[in-house]
Amino acid sequence: MVRPCFWLLLLSWLSAPAFATALAPGVHWVQGTYAPPRQPDGNSVLFETPGGWLVVDSGRHPAHARAVLAAAAGRPLRALLNTHWHLDHVGGNPALRAAAPDLRVYASPAIDGALGGFLADYAAQLRMLLAREPGAAAAADWRAELARIERGDALRPDRKLRGDTVLVVGGREFRVGFAAAATEGDLWVFDAASGVLAAGDLVTLPAPFFDTACPERWRAALDRLEATPFTRLVPGHGAPMDRAGFAAWRKAFGRLLDCAASDTPEAGCIAGWQADAQSLLPDAAARQQAAELLAYYLPAVLRNPATANRRRVPAPAA
Ligand SMILES: [Zn+2]
Repeated sequence: MVRPCFWLLLLSWLSAPAFATALAPGVHWVQGTYAPPRQPDGNSVLFETPGGWLVVDSGRHPAHARAVLAAAAGRPLRALLNTHWHLDHVGGNPALRAAAPDLRVYASPAIDGALGGFLADYAAQLRMLLAREPGAAAAADWRAELARIERGDALRPDRKLRGDTVLVVGGREFRVGFAAAATEGDLWVFDAASGVLAAGDLVTLPAPFFDTACPERWRAALDRLEATPFTRLVPGHGAPMDRAGFAAWRKAFGRLLDCAASDTPEAGCIAGWQADAQSLLPDAAARQQAAELLAYYLPAVLRNPATANRRRVPAPAA
């Protein structure tokens, strides 16, 4: 169930406009932004191929899609891969499809279940909010969010990826990994030529986002990312990191789960994350944002017996 209050925790995120940064020759990172009072966009990564771009994730808002198109610099978009179905990663699909009618969209099948469950519940909450407070300052954003969900078919992939695969785009090969961890279908993309790994929300800053997660499967997925020979990892939210940065994040994640399973008070687990991930939290504001997120996730997900059923959902066949 989506809790609008959770999104309000993100109000202080990344207020700068979207921009693109070159990570390697032919590899661009479009930073996901948050412009209050709107909700966040996830990061996008563009990989250049002889036949056009492979784009990983499309953000949520039109401005993010425009930033992706600007980063493409007039070269055609050949393929789009959504790492998972959250709206901050698939919301720009219709805009990119409109700009590139031949675009081939790849994703796991998990969005089908989400449109009938999680996102349907969220849409019902948005309709309720709009009926109750039609003049609210955020009403326009609620309507835009509702419209995104109601265009569900435009968010779905053309081709569903159900396991690890090698994706060939424009004559170049990309390794795609699959796990059911942060959602029931998470993909990541590794480009051996550049050493860049686009991890989606399997890695996020300033803290992991546990809303739809199976924490223990997530821990196992991080082991697989560690075994991938990347040199730069682009998280779903936050700045790219090197192998040492990811090692610190992964260790902090494992210790957070261990702490959540112990009798340690919440404040101790939060302080542990802040200390373990210190090198990735650039300032006091980031540490405070992490604390607010974990103060929500510890009781709502990590220590909530009702979320245990996520562990009983069978992983899709490879
Ligand atoms: Zn995200």
